[in-house]
Amino acid sequence: MELIHEILAAILPMLVIAIFTGVGLVLEWLKPAEPRQPARRILFNIAYLPVYLISLVVLAPLLTHWLPSTGVALLHVSWGQTFLGALAQTLFFALVYDFFYYWWHRAQHTWSPLWAIHRLHHSERALNVTSAARHHWLEETLRPLVVLLPLAFVLQVEPTRFAMIGTLFAAWPFFIHLNVRLSLGGVGRLIMGPQYHRVHHSIEPQHWNRNFGSFFPIWDYLFRTAYHPKVNEFPTTGLTQHDGEPHSSASEALTAPFAEWWRLWRDRRR
Ligand SMILES: [Zn+2]
Ligand SMILES: [Zn+2]
Repeated sequence: MELIHEILAAILPMLVIAIFTGVGLVLEWLKPAEPRQPARRILFNIAYLPVYLISLVVLAPLLTHWLPSTGVALLHVSWGQTFLGALAQTLFFALVYDFFYYWWHRAQHTWSPLWAIHRLHHSERALNVTSAARHHWLEETLRPLVVLLPLAFVLQVEPTRFAMIGTLFAAWPFFIHLNVRLSLGGVGRLIMGPQYHRVHHSIEPQHWNRNFGSFFPIWDYLFRTAYHPKVNEFPTTGLTQHDGEPHSSASEALTAPFAEWWRLWRDRRR
């Protein structure tokens, strides 16, 4: 019985990601922001999925295992007994999480050694639902630690029995990367949508270093990095000349940060 539970626990994340990806691809086919994206770009990300899963399910938990447990947070929240309470608790958690994520993400765009890791995600020329998994394995491994460690000292939330809310939380990165022509209008100033995150991936100069948030634009507005897109503004995405060449192979994508760190270290010594 225990073995069945363990197998199910290992398969579940893959199943959930497969469902998010499948639903996303159908939505992109129905109403694309950028029509006729090359299939090879989507296939590259799908082939990369096992690396993403290993970093998410194996490597990241190895590091987060050392996070401080109960009793160190300044604020303890336990609203999860009712559905609305659980929803409010999850939204509050996402808001505080997003504060730490904002600064980690902003640092990735402004500090060269971190950009070396994050560049793979931005080398996506055809932004789509599968781009959510196109993160370097080091980024997926380090992010939970970098974001969750400071968060553990600020906020502790009680687990809720409403698994559906947690699933929505996990689906969010897939939602914001959708290649769909969806404008949230004024609501987009309160909650992030695919158009808002597409601007973050844009190659147009007016969009550079904008929209660092993950769930809510509030931190971008507060720290003056928000760009609220116009209704029909769905820019082209990818790396700019300033960011260097995209990776030409999967093996280069996997090892690129190490080569870049070596180059940065060598340049500093000169
Ligand atoms: Zn970024
Ligand atoms: Zn992205």
